[in-house]
Amino acid sequence: KYYHDDSDSLKDSYCGYYGANEQFRSKLTAKELVFQVLKNRVDNIDVDRCCPGAEDPFFVADMGEIYRQHLRWKMNLSRVKPFYAVKCNPDPEILRLMASLGNGFDCASKAEIDVALSTGVDPSRIIYAQPCKTKSYIRYAAQMGVKQMTFDNADELYKIKTNFPNAELYLRILTDDSTSLCRLSMKFGASLDVTRPLLELARELDLNVVGVSFHVGSGAEDPKAFCKAVQDARVVFDQAVEVGHEPHTLDVGGGFSEDRFERFAVILGQALDTYFPPHIRIIAEPGRYYVASAFTLAVNVIARRIIQDPMDPSGNTHRLYLNDGVYGNFSNTIFDHQHPEPQILSCLDDSVASPLSHRPSQEIAYSIWGPTCDGIDIIAEHAILPGVVGVGDWLYFENMGAYTRCSATRFNGFTDNHEVIYISSEAGARALLNYRT
Ligand code: PLP
Repeated sequence: KYYHDDSDSLKDSYCGYYGANEQFRSKLTAKELVFQVLKNRVDNIDVDRCCPGAEDPFFVADMGEIYRQHLRWKMNLSRVKPFYAVKCNPDPEILRLMASLGNGFDCASKAEIDVALSTGVDPSRIIYAQPCKTKSYIRYAAQMGVKQMTFDNADELYKIKTNFPNAELYLRILTDDSTSLCRLSMKFGASLDVTRPLLELARELDLNVVGVSFHVGSGAEDPKAFCKAVQDARVVFDQAVEVGHEPHTLDVGGGFSEDRFERFAVILGQALDTYFPPHIRIIAEPGRYYVASAFTLAVNVIARRIIQDPMDPSGNTHRLYLNDGVYGNFSNTIFDHQHPEPQILSCLDDSVASPLSHRPSQEIAYSIWGPTCDGIDIIAEHAILPGVVGVGDWLYFENMGAYTRCSATRFNGFTDNHEVIYISSEAGARALLNYRT
């Protein structure tokens, strides 16, 4: 994860795009590289004189991080072909990288099918993995040649019969998602007592069931959920064969996360090898795993209030107001149950240490608020920062790549489309994306 003086390509692309100075030569970790890019960008903004919105939040996206996640996937789950879940972050550069890496796409709507196809991939590399689809979107999938799609109920089969009788169908089954951050089985998935009648109905309608799919819930904590789901999928595979279908693919969905990946991969890999012989194709729909750690968000402190509070041991409570909040890129605090942690990017007060300076500092607890007029717009109730942060200072938040930008709104007139600065800390990704080398 280190980048050396002799990496001319990195030096050129970095200097070319972001105006790095001559000091940018020594060994940098990927995180340090991202920090430098963030810092250079904000150092060029004068919040006392800039045009309206020039201090808006922005992302730095390290495509090298996504590339490393892909290599990690290949090393640990070589049997499973990823179909990236577009919903998680439909950024066009991410999709371009996914397509170059040979991955497929999991789409949930017409618009997602369009962005996936715009990368130039063959429609066979797309699965329309939404068991309850809009009729006109089913017809659109047919028109675009996107054959693979999921179902979990009888009405969906009748809809597909009328609108796309040649579709390749995956029966999505219920899972135990009780340990997941975002539970999905309360909404989707056929229980094992209805799978056989559904498969029989599909047969009667002369529809083509090619596989079984499941999703253990996003942000899953217990890898045993995968074991049970794979076992259940085996039962449904056998039912499909008994009914007269010829299933050939298992779709193990998403639910993988960066921090627990290896543990999950071992358990899933063993279950797959136990229940599904090598001729069965295995695909997955990872979203969060690929992109969460690749995006870092920089935000500006637009206001501060220090309130006398006799209940607080320090006598005061400190509130910071940022130019992004839960109606914007911090939508992940509400929809994705995340707890983003602020760090200092740039602070007028020199005594406040940035996380990379390793200087001792005086800690202050802040509550952190968004820019809208709504009281619900709070990003963190209790965040510790190393010193006195003031108006005009910059904070940054790591791990902001999954379920952030895509679920932002324009409430109160704020933009939902913030700038993204793309870099790559890996030569492999730079080459694939044709970033300047
Ligand atoms: N596939 C489907 C059908 C989903 O609903 C989701 C997320 O909601 C995903 C894949 C991606 O899940 P994750 O980001 O946990 O990998």
